[in-house]
Amino acid sequence: MTEGLLTAAYIIASILFILSLRGLSHPESARSGNIYGMSGMLIAVIATILGSQSASVEAILVAMIIGGVIGAVVAMRVEMTGMPQLVAILHSFVGLAAVLVGYANYLDPAAASHFSGAAKTIHDVEIFLGILIGAVTFTGSVIAFGKLQAVIGSKPLLLPARHWLNLGLGLASIWLGIEFVNASTVSEGATILAMMTIIALAFGVHMVMAIGGADMPVVVSMLNSYSGWAAAATGFMLSNDLLIITGALVGSSGAILSYIMSKAMNRSFISVIAGGFGTTSGGGSSAEVEGETVSITAEETAGLLREAKSIVIVPGYGMAVAQAQHPIAEITKRLRANGANVRFGIHPVAGRLPGHMNVLLAEARVPYDIVLEMDEINGDLPNTDIVLVIGANDTVNPAAKDDPNSPIAGMPVVEVWNAKNVIVMKRGMASGYAGVANPLFFKENTRMLFGDAKDGVDTILREL
Ligand code: NDP
Repeated sequence: MTEGLLTAAYIIASILFILSLRGLSHPESARSGNIYGMSGMLIAVIATILGSQSASVEAILVAMIIGGVIGAVVAMRVEMTGMPQLVAILHSFVGLAAVLVGYANYLDPAAASHFSGAAKTIHDVEIFLGILIGAVTFTGSVIAFGKLQAVIGSKPLLLPARHWLNLGLGLASIWLGIEFVNASTVSEGATILAMMTIIALAFGVHMVMAIGGADMPVVVSMLNSYSGWAAAATGFMLSNDLLIITGALVGSSGAILSYIMSKAMNRSFISVIAGGFGTTSGGGSSAEVEGETVSITAEETAGLLREAKSIVIVPGYGMAVAQAQHPIAEITKRLRANGANVRFGIHPVAGRLPGHMNVLLAEARVPYDIVLEMDEINGDLPNTDIVLVIGANDTVNPAAKDDPNSPIAGMPVVEVWNAKNVIVMKRGMASGYAGVANPLFFKENTRMLFGDAKDGVDTILREL
């Protein structure tokens, strides 16, 4: 493949990636966004294989087949609720790849002989940063995987002098970076790289361990961003323009998403990254919640829904676990046919992935125009006859507003308690991902519909 053709293919692939990101910004255009992304990646892979001068095409193909088969099997088997963990572990692979490419690049005598003087310094900085970002992304993502998979508890690990520890690790990395650039032999440089890698791996673990359950959405999107920067750094090391562009696109879109998530949770991005934001700000522990709950049956719920003129459905992670979106879509259809104004209120961090609820509702073909964001629905809730909360907990917890010591204090929530009646569907009294008790369940206008959300909505549907 000629240099010109390769450049043209890379430009086309880059444009397709940009169109893909644009498409993925709305559920309606997400399908075409995916097709743009896949086409771009196909062009990128073919151009890279045909344009590669040094690597053996056979070796690339064998690696692709092994990786592709594993990826396809894992993706087909994963449950929708396991998707966040899968995304986290995939981020860790990007980080690990950046580390390995960095070492290979530094230790390869052929690559080293290409550079001298200022170009060598720049190349060394690229290698150092690539490995640094890659190592932080790697362990950070593995810990995020553990937290999302509930192998590691969602409570933040707050070491006494953690900010000083982070500062110390940061300063040590800068010092090692200077030493690395000035290293006179490859073995001296490799030793420094190894020291920095250990620090970066430790930093990745510490950074994510210090983050509480409620702040995890910001971390997931931040690690997404890091994986992009790690890929971009790899692109610099390998002088591959497409990898630089793709990495920068992922890095910056992940950074924007992290910003949107922190804003949605009313957190300062820096505070979340520094760790344990909510836990330390109040200086105490969240208030005990006491009282009695009042139960309701699915049959009674169906009766109330039949009479209601305005209904808001607030889904959360439990709807994803129960896979209740299809009967919910059917219930919505029937209630609307009955003349009720039915809408959905979506909290930006409901579920375990950005846009989790929107994806499920789109899959069940709920019309987009009745799926509203938290800010759009909150003002209408006082005039709503019934709010049906399906498997949501943290995102409808009044403690976020009322209890300054709560780990979720300050996070905007869907203020469902302002409606005339609230029906909460969940299996028991368990807390949500943030591990915070929910006073909503004990409010006068709340009724608890206990049981699996899918069973509950199936019964309601039958009754309707
Ligand atoms: P929560 O995690 O707060 O609560 C989900 C509730 O669903 C649980 O209390 C559980 O109660 C109930 N549930 C589970 N399974 C079922 C079932 N089969 N049927 C009925 N109910 C069920 O969910 P939210 O969506 O309100 O909040 C999301 C939380 O996750 C937030 O804290 C957010 O910060 C965090 N998070 C979000 C991410 C994102 O990107 N969106 C990423 C990482 C974390 P019970 O066991 O009693 O049934």
